[in-house]
Amino acid sequence: MKLENKKVLVVGLGRSGIAAAQILRSRNALVTVCDHKAADETGIDIESMQRAGIEIYTGDYPKVSRHNYDLLIASPGIALNIQPFQEAFAQGIPVIGELELAYRLKKEQTELLAITGTNGKTTTTALLQEILARGGKRAFTAGNIGIALATLVDEVEDAVIAVEVSSFQLETAVDFRPHICGILNITPDHLDRHQSMRAYVEAKAKIFQKQRPEDYAVFNYEDPILRELGPSCPARLFYFSAEQPLSEGAFVEDNHVTIMVENKKVRICPLNRIKLRGKHNLENVLCAAMMAYLGGIAAPAIAEVLSSFKGVRHRLEEVDCQNNILYINDSKATNPESAIKALESFDNPIILIAGGRNKGSSFDQLAELIKSKVKELILLGEAKEEIKQAVMDVNYKNIHEVGSFPEAVRMAYNLAKPGDVVLLSPACASWDMFPSYEHRGDLFCQLVKSLSGKALE
Ligand code: ADP
Repeated sequence: MKLENKKVLVVGLGRSGIAAAQILRSRNALVTVCDHKAADETGIDIESMQRAGIEIYTGDYPKVSRHNYDLLIASPGIALNIQPFQEAFAQGIPVIGELELAYRLKKEQTELLAITGTNGKTTTTALLQEILARGGKRAFTAGNIGIALATLVDEVEDAVIAVEVSSFQLETAVDFRPHICGILNITPDHLDRHQSMRAYVEAKAKIFQKQRPEDYAVFNYEDPILRELGPSCPARLFYFSAEQPLSEGAFVEDNHVTIMVENKKVRICPLNRIKLRGKHNLENVLCAAMMAYLGGIAAPAIAEVLSSFKGVRHRLEEVDCQNNILYINDSKATNPESAIKALESFDNPIILIAGGRNKGSSFDQLAELIKSKVKELILLGEAKEEIKQAVMDVNYKNIHEVGSFPEAVRMAYNLAKPGDVVLLSPACASWDMFPSYEHRGDLFCQLVKSLSGKALE
């Protein structure tokens, strides 16, 4: 991709925007980064970017025309319906995302294994990277999970990168072609941004659309949307299933994770050796194992990691166990589907803390499960009334409404009896009360530790 002296506008001064600006500048493009926030609200070291020759435009968006820009780079956090993109579309100026830019600039020997899905991406990406590394590869993670792909592809050579890609990043993908891709599931999420389920599925499908027959794709067989998408995938497609044996792909047989490729059956490891909890994590395991196997990793390396990998923070994270009460931080459950998976992962009576900002989901299905598995429900945040209504509709009564997060944790602590699980799995985003789900999870951990500390006094 020729970038020298190209006039490029990067929209969004976030992590990906900055990564894109830096790599573009290193290729001698004439880079402007803009953000509608005022300079002092961005929290960015603007001066050091200016020193690197990057022009900064804050507090508004610049007017976009063919005279001043040749290319626009979209940050994943920003919807495409804002003025600069609309002006670019109207005048035929290309708009791509940071993922696409990174793909076009990566060295040829660098191999990409990309993972998407509504839920499970970070867990599966982290697991896959560990398996690849255990199998002897120079393996990294990038994308949503941490370091921007644009930064990493510039720094590494001859590496294998497990990339976590979101629907927002895929929306602006054009030529992006991972050698192996995995799709975990597609359920309604982010519909506030994508407008329709169709647009969301179309964005997700971009992960495989540019693949070729020599590439591989791994889909969840139990997901009806993925089954429907299967025939349109140009790569060699394998399915995984946590429910039933398949004639090919990854599945469970005789209580073992099993892989079948070209009539060769490989037993990876017994289910009881897997550290990750819950059936949803078994799906993540099957997807990562299949992708790693297709990437040339042998069964023993896969098995070793499956029996040691404990998961990623804020996802069914064990915080504490006091008086035989288990405290679990699942703050990353920002939609009802994730909270359902969390509830399904425990057989003990559950005290559930839920609520926050609803991203456009229905709580009806969650309400059914709350009725059957939740001993006490503690509700807070903007979606409090909506969740309350959903559970009352199924005749559930053990509802406790609270006004603050510390109050919620204190109430859970007081209600819990030995043998119970106190579960923070909010089914909602955190933005009504916290800057991020990590802040929410960290506060939960702190409060639990301080409360159980008091109990010891
Ligand atoms: P993502 O990166 O896609 O948000 P994470 O690995 O961070 O996914 O997990 C987020 C939440 O989704 C977790 O709290 C967990 O409860 C739920 N989850 C994880 N894996 C799956 C899965 N395969 N299917 C459904 N829900 C899942």
